[in-house]
Amino acid sequence: MTNTEGAVPELLPCRNLAAKLVMFLALTTVASGLANAAVAVETVKIADGIYQFITAPDGYVPNGNCVAVITQQDVLVYDTFTRPSTASVVLAEIRKLTNKPVRFIVNSHWHPDHWSGNEVFAQAFPGLEIIASEETRQFMLNIANAWPPLYAARLRKDQADLEKEATSSLLPDGSPLTPEQRRSDEEDLKLEQEYVAEAATVHRTYPTLTYSQALTLYHGGREFRFLEMVGDARGDTVLYLPKEKILVTGDLLSSPVPYYTPPLSEHAQSLRRLSQFDADIIIPGHGPARHDKSYLELELNLLDSIIAQVRQAVQLGLVTVEDVQKAVNVDPLRAQFTHDDAKLNAKFHRYVNGMIENAYREARDGKKFEY
Ligand SMILES: [Zn+2]
Repeated sequence: MTNTEGAVPELLPCRNLAAKLVMFLALTTVASGLANAAVAVETVKIADGIYQFITAPDGYVPNGNCVAVITQQDVLVYDTFTRPSTASVVLAEIRKLTNKPVRFIVNSHWHPDHWSGNEVFAQAFPGLEIIASEETRQFMLNIANAWPPLYAARLRKDQADLEKEATSSLLPDGSPLTPEQRRSDEEDLKLEQEYVAEAATVHRTYPTLTYSQALTLYHGGREFRFLEMVGDARGDTVLYLPKEKILVTGDLLSSPVPYYTPPLSEHAQSLRRLSQFDADIIIPGHGPARHDKSYLELELNLLDSIIAQVRQAVQLGLVTVEDVQKAVNVDPLRAQFTHDDAKLNAKFHRYVNGMIENAYREARDGKKFEY
């Protein structure tokens, strides 16, 4: 597993005995058919008729973005979150903003936190078009049915971890379980349980209109440019609104810590391409909208630095991934991502190690040498 978001999503961990009880309650709630509390969504006005919706932690992501662009006749929605119940909250928000119908959905890529709410819009607005790259659609078809068993397996693992902790009263790092940690774990477990139950019921709703490389839609007084690029997935769709100078990147760009899956150099090349766009506002796949290119440049610097250091290390003769991970140092960039938050520092460290392995494999034509 090279990416904590994509192919095998990292569900929020749950780690203590009390959490187990909460999970029991959550199971009972699901079994009795009671609705789960919807995940909170924040609406941010980006420009006239353009809104960003940001979720609280949902399923396996700490935050997520969806964007609505209102045209003269209707609405285009970019990405639909991790599950139908969250998409329903967004649809309700859109209805507060306009009575125009949603006519287009765009799915940036195949990872489940970006298209699992499609069915909500398709049911509310029959005949709407769902736009994605052809490659994204193919990945969706190939991978979607693997998620429910993967989620269930992850949940079983989290339950087992939790039982282990309950017996020892210790966290995995050997430190004692605090009441604060206990409460936080309870919340995480409840969310995970609800998410896994709902994920099993998603009616996968696939793109109806696909393209390769680029597609421009002139519609309702706006110009939408869709561009296929490599980001945290192959076949990612970036949306560029040239008149408004707004760039919606999907997971080419994400914060607080960047996601990664395909070869790092291809991802970096896409970010270099994005840095040339005439854009005043950049909305990433995860994290707040940016009003300059500093975060884009920061993520690009991180990827470039890792790629260059990994190449140097393997050329010097370091053999294993572990040795290369020890040789690469991106500490000077870390605080700019994490602001030295301890939890985020740990996540950053984990992700950087994954990026190093990714760049290592790329430098060695996919090979991972071990003694
Ligand atoms: Zn994502």
